[in-house]
Amino acid sequence: MTKIDPRRSVPARRDLVEGGLGGVNVLNPGEVRPLSELAAGQPQHVGYLISCPGCGAELSIYTAGPRQFHGESGDLDARTLSFDAPITHDCGWAGHLHLGIFVPV
Ligand SMILES: [Zn+2]
Repeated sequence: MTKIDPRRSVPARRDLVEGGLGGVNVLNPGEVRPLSELAAGQPQHVGYLISCPGCGAELSIYTAGPRQFHGESGDLDARTLSFDAPITHDCGWAGHLHLGIFVPV
């Protein structure tokens, strides 16, 4: 269980699914997974699943498609990913992803 810290700043890093396919995935604050959905039978990038920087809970951030709220720039693996709108979660964490770092406000 991750200790809740609404002031935590962490780098955004690609989530490596520890348990493998079908295994238990441990969510660590700041982990990010690209999110795709099928559109006309083809997988389409629609955003990211992130582990809340404050508590580790999984949040969906949509950067494309009908539920888009955030814009994105940069690249996850180059550690330059940024969102153009804030992220907030019930645990109290509120902040931004800027150039690969989750920064609380
Ligand atoms: Zn949280």
